[in-house]
Amino acid sequence: MSVAPYSTIIQNGQQPLVIKIGSSLLVQDDQPRVDWMQALATELIQRPGPVVLVSSGAIALGRTTLGLDRKPTNLAESQAAAAVGQIQLAQRWAETWHQHGRQTAQVLLTLDDLEDRGRYLNARNTIETLLGQSIVPIINENDTVATGEIRFGDNDRLAARVAQLTQAELLVLLSDVDGLHTANPEMDQSARLIPDVKHIDASIDALADDGSGTNYGTGGMRSKLTAARIATAAGCPVLLTSGLGEQAPLSRYAETGRGTHFAALDQPRILRKQWLQSLQQHAGRVHLDAGACAALEQGGSLLAVGLTAVDGPFERGSLVGLIGPNGPIGQGLSGYSYDEASRLIGLKSDAFMDALGYAGRGPIVHRDDLVLFEG
Ligand code: GLU
Repeated sequence: MSVAPYSTIIQNGQQPLVIKIGSSLLVQDDQPRVDWMQALATELIQRPGPVVLVSSGAIALGRTTLGLDRKPTNLAESQAAAAVGQIQLAQRWAETWHQHGRQTAQVLLTLDDLEDRGRYLNARNTIETLLGQSIVPIINENDTVATGEIRFGDNDRLAARVAQLTQAELLVLLSDVDGLHTANPEMDQSARLIPDVKHIDASIDALADDGSGTNYGTGGMRSKLTAARIATAAGCPVLLTSGLGEQAPLSRYAETGRGTHFAALDQPRILRKQWLQSLQQHAGRVHLDAGACAALEQGGSLLAVGLTAVDGPFERGSLVGLIGPNGPIGQGLSGYSYDEASRLIGLKSDAFMDALGYAGRGPIVHRDDLVLFEG
């Protein structure tokens, strides 16, 4: 049933909700659609859990300021337009959320950042910290440093990676199309909207190639399906629906049911834990006290305060054994190098600055990066 995720996730959702907003929704006749942005924020503010926006529109906004009455034709021009437009985009979102008493933060990422383990961990910790303080991250691709052509549709994939990174409850791809259709509705009157996709198989994939349900959207259906595949494989369901019209898009979906809901594959967490379990080459060991062992049993992360000793050397991201007062209890990927971890033994995070010379970056081993041994 497609409408279910809206009501449960908006009203009760505790995990992050990631919303990707295409340029065509944010900019109309060269002007930002401020009323629509406001309607969206008014709808999202009702949610108890955190909200993350992946917002396009920098180039579309910047190009007007640069006096271009056409799309930028080369990379330098696109990047200049993005640089000019991004500041306006961030400001618009900040104003929109301030009206609801919420702070926003600008986060510019490249897809490459998320491939690199160290930068991935930093991005995850930054976003987690922002969400912990009820700040709304406004994410876009860092277009000024992108080395390839800036492709519309990149933000679909970026949003899917952000959904994965934040373990989002739902990724909503807001577009100028209602959803995935059986054929291109502009060309074929018999085209039907597909409300639910359980699995993106070859027959679903083929629909992207005949232009079904799209032109018309930036990025087209191909990049939407790629994004849906990434997110659902990471355990996050995806809703593709339209943000056209003045109405707030999630309410519109709840009323009309017009959208495509892609179900999440339910194994990724298990697969990741199995992978962590299968790793064998420990670079070092971290010793923890009984309180930290109990916290881990409850599904928590390993915090420095529960650390009693470290054996190294190891790098950040290395596999380390977790040793409790009675022996090995599990293993995980360290968030710090041996040198850093040894300086953090027994410390609370407010003492990290003095110990490291910087504020640190989260737990010693994040709960998603560790596995406990049976029994
Ligand atoms: N990052 C681009 C912008 O803000 C948009 C990319 C996309 O829409 O996929 O203008």
